[in-house]
Amino acid sequence: MALLCKDLCQKHKARFEHSKGMYLNGYRFCRVCQVWFNTDSLYCICCGGRLGARPRSKKSKLLLSKMVVLVKQ
Ligand SMILES: [Zn+2]
Ligand SMILES: [Zn+2]
Repeated sequence: MALLCKDLCQKHKARFEHSKGMYLNGYRFCRVCQVWFNTDSLYCICCGGRLGARPRSKKSKLLLSKMVVLVKQ
């Protein structure tokens, strides 16, 4: 089943975009819609696709900890 953007996300999307640091703040990214959501849901309310969560790989975690430092400063 193909996942399609129905433009519902445009009403619900988070105000800012294009920042990996948003993973820190409970935001999730839909790769189909290319939109950030401020939600706890695992699935996009628009296309039904799985939303991106916190990065799992070691590299990403390293990057994440660096970003935390940046945020604190
Ligand atoms: Zn959408
Ligand atoms: Zn979506």
